[in-house]
Amino acid sequence: MNTVLFDLRGQYNLLREEIDAAVREVLASGEYILGPRVRLLEENLAACCGVPYGVGVASGSDALLLALLACGIGKGDEVITTPFTFFATAGTISRTGATPVFADIEPVTCNIDPEKISALISPRTRAIVPVHIFGQMADMDAVLDLARAHRLLVIEDACQALGAGNKGRKAGSLGHAGCFSFFPTKNLGGCGDGGMVVTRDPQVADRVMSLRTHGSRQKFIHHSVGCNSRLDEIQAAVLLVKLKYLDSWIEQRVALAGEYNRLLDGVVVTPGLLPGNRHTYHLYVVGSPQRDRIKEHLERNRVGCGVYYPVPLHLQQAFHHLGYREGDFPVAERSARELLAIPAHPGLSTAETGRIASLVREAAGLPVSLEK
Ligand SMILES: *Cc1c(COP(=O)(O)O)cnc(C)c1O
Repeated sequence: MNTVLFDLRGQYNLLREEIDAAVREVLASGEYILGPRVRLLEENLAACCGVPYGVGVASGSDALLLALLACGIGKGDEVITTPFTFFATAGTISRTGATPVFADIEPVTCNIDPEKISALISPRTRAIVPVHIFGQMADMDAVLDLARAHRLLVIEDACQALGAGNKGRKAGSLGHAGCFSFFPTKNLGGCGDGGMVVTRDPQVADRVMSLRTHGSRQKFIHHSVGCNSRLDEIQAAVLLVKLKYLDSWIEQRVALAGEYNRLLDGVVVTPGLLPGNRHTYHLYVVGSPQRDRIKEHLERNRVGCGVYYPVPLHLQQAFHHLGYREGDFPVAERSARELLAIPAHPGLSTAETGRIASLVREAAGLPVSLEK
């Protein structure tokens, strides 16, 4: 049996007729970029998050870059974020001309540790970019308190966390802007790249809209220098089909995570929930000093798995000039050594989760038969 980490073909096969029909409609319409489907997706996603504005862009990375620019982040500014995330989080901060300043994560959720933030705030600090890693929101109450006290902007990297919540509040809706990715493997993924900025602030929405079309609000009239970061109608059409299923997919992911938690209790460490959080389990990760052995064993047995993330950002060559060293962020560094994502996509059968859990147990050095 072959189990993949992300089952994109399975997801397509499940919705084949609906997706094919939606794509054919776009092809026949002759409207391929920033048309009615993108506008509908923008409305629906903003509504999902409980905010008035959504602006579709070409990727999650561009959502971050344009949100930062729209908030006025640039040269000379410092932006505090986590080193335990996909490169885009800090890469886009750098692209604006600002300097990423890293704060270690806390070990339970692997999200930025608010207690590590205060000491890093300087007169140049302009913003905090919390990342809702693996699909669970960072401690936003603490982050927002700090931001209020120090008059900082908050831009949420919610690329892994569409549909996540905390005490009824939605991921992406709590900061000045929230950024989403529709990369195919994300919980809501297109058939290509895509992204969106959501916000309550009409000015931020207007600026992102202008930046995505080369700083223009009116054809051929440019009041600032932006870029081409438009969203395709074909992507929007596919995403509108899938959006209808997102909630039930998240429910299934939550159920699978509960199943794994039970099967793997005492064998590996799994990140815990912050009180009040609705986790979306974009990635279900296990932690163990035996991580590499578990990974090899799973791969040998045709189970897809992945290390998120093997190199924390403060140790990336691209950020060498920032002067960080190994040992600066011990929790992020240990997470990079010990965490492994295992399959937890909707549709995974109990037989498959059972088989995967047994393989993890074997590799972690425990008897396979140890069932609860
Ligand atoms: C996927 C992701 C991004 C970037 O999204 P793209 O659509 O791939 O550009 C940014 N941050 C995080 C945390 C992500 O998981």
